[in-house]
This record gives sequence, structure tokens and C-alpha cells, in this order.
Amino acid sequence: MNLTRDYGIKYASAIPLSECIVTRPYLLHRAGLAYDSNSKIEKSGSVLLMLIPYYSGSPPGNISVYSAPRDYHIYFNELFSSIIPELQKLMPGAVFCGFSDHSPIDERDAAAKAGLGVIGCNRLLINEEYSSFCFIGEIISDIPADEWSRLITGLLSVKVQEVKNCSGCGACERACPVGGGCIADVKTCLSNLTQKKKLTPDEEKIIAANNTVWGCDVCQFACPVTKKAIISGSIKTPIKFFRENIISTITDEILEDLIKTGEYSLRAYSWREPDVIRRNISLTSRDTDDEDYNK
Ligand code: SF4
Ligand code: SF4
Repeated sequence: MNLTRDYGIKYASAIPLSECIVTRPYLLHRAGLAYDSNSKIEKSGSVLLMLIPYYSGSPPGNISVYSAPRDYHIYFNELFSSIIPELQKLMPGAVFCGFSDHSPIDERDAAAKAGLGVIGCNRLLINEEYSSFCFIGEIISDIPADEWSRLITGLLSVKVQEVKNCSGCGACERACPVGGGCIADVKTCLSNLTQKKKLTPDEEKIIAANNTVWGCDVCQFACPVTKKAIISGSIKTPIKFFRENIISTITDEILEDLIKTGEYSLRAYSWREPDVIRRNISLTSRDTDDEDYNK
């Protein structure tokens, strides 16, 4: 199997599970993988880490770039349903289980140790070609890490790397609209605010002032690695799933249409009721001279 040729995945490498920070051991147990939570050591298991670029190149709108195509969880389900049976054929009896986002391990730390990128001040993994516009997905197995190169050709070095940080240039911190010269903490981050069910009047004003209906990419676009990747074109995903069905801007009409056609349930924001999106559209459409806005 060749991940670049068959799936458009250029950055992938495997490291021992014992090198990873296990944050949800119950997910390993559920997958049938032995993990001793007392000694925190899984003797022979390994993790194949993959970077999935998602930037289509479409002009950004009023929602975060990651949420413009269909929900990435759908992509990962399709990817794992294709790769894992192939792996099982190559290595019968071995356990392979795919994760992304809701993972047993700290994905960002593991991807850095697997040599796929550095940890940015904006809290994201930064890859030289995709910057932070990539998802991390992984297949965890009970096979040793060095077995992966027999199953998959073209993997990056399997040696565990020291976790490295970005240059620390500070551009993301200066650009953050709510951090006051720092990166906003998770609670005050605009991305979190747009997802909240209930907002304070001050939080409503922040969303209105920043014209975002879902998520925030300001610190990602401010990063010089992103700027370089946009100029060179390396940031653009070759993966069809992330290049089609793009909706970068949501208006009331588009939202109602998404709901009517059932497309809403295929979107990354669908874990929230449409009312949250409706409210954010209304906030970002407010006239700043409006009495309500200035309350
Ligand atoms: S996502 Fe936006 S609000 Fe959150 S830290 Fe980055 S720039 Fe700040
Ligand atoms: S903008 Fe600078 S400090 Fe922020 S993540 Fe990018 S390289 Fe790091």
C-alpha cells in the first residue's frame, strides 16, 4: 500500500505507542488493544500517524476553513474503512483501529514525535507544507512500529523525534483579536465562543465585531509558515473530499437550504443545533449603529 499514491497522504510515520501520551486508555481497551494503565507501558503496540491537508484554496468566508467542506469525521470513517481491511489482509490476526480527534493519545504530541511537524505558539501542529491546515489521524495497532514499513511504502523515518516548537515569531499572538497580545485561552477563543449555546452580551459583541459564524482562523493565517505555503501552493489539499462540496460562507438562506436538503447533518458544525449558527449569522449581520448592538 502506498498512502501518497492511493490516498494523497504524503506525511505519515509510525512510532511506538509507549512513546505517546495516552489520554483516554479506555479507547485502547475498547479497540482490543492491551494497555497497562498502571505502568503506562504498552510493550509492543504502535501508532501510524498521518497528516490530512484540508485547505482547498477557496477564498475564506465567514466560517473556519476546516468546516467549509463536509465533516472531516466522514472522511476519516471512509479512509479507515478502506485502509484497515487492506492492513488486515497483509497481517491477519493483528489489531488495527483508526482514530481522529477523539483519540486515546495526545495526537499533536505524537505527530511531532513522528516528525510530521512542530508545535506552534497557536497550539496547533505546524507542518512545513500545509502549515496548520491539516488534520491528524492515526491507526493504532498491536504490531511493533518497525513493522509498518513492510505494510506501507514511503513512510517517513520511524525514529522518534524530540518535540520541537515553532520559531516563536509572535505573529499569531499579535493577530489574535481577543488575546490582548497573546493567544486567547481556550475559553475566550473566538472558536469556542461561536460554538457556545449561551453568550454573554460581551461575547455577542466579540462575535459581531469579528464577523465569524463558526470558528476562527486568524492565528493560522497570520503565521509566516501559512503565508509561505499559500504562496508556494503547497498548502492546497490533493484530497478530493476536501476540494468538493465547499460552502465557505453561511447566510440565513444557505442555512435553511442545508437543513431542508439534509446536508446540514454532513457538516462539522452539525453537532450544534442550527439555532447556534442562526444566532451567529444574526450577530454578524447587525448594524453597529443598531440600538441592540450597543446595549
Ligand atoms: S482561533 Fe482566533 S481567537 Fe482563538 S487563539 Fe486563534 S486567533 Fe485567537
Ligand atoms: S505565527 Fe510565529 S509564533 Fe505563531 S505559530 Fe506561527 S511561527 Fe509560531
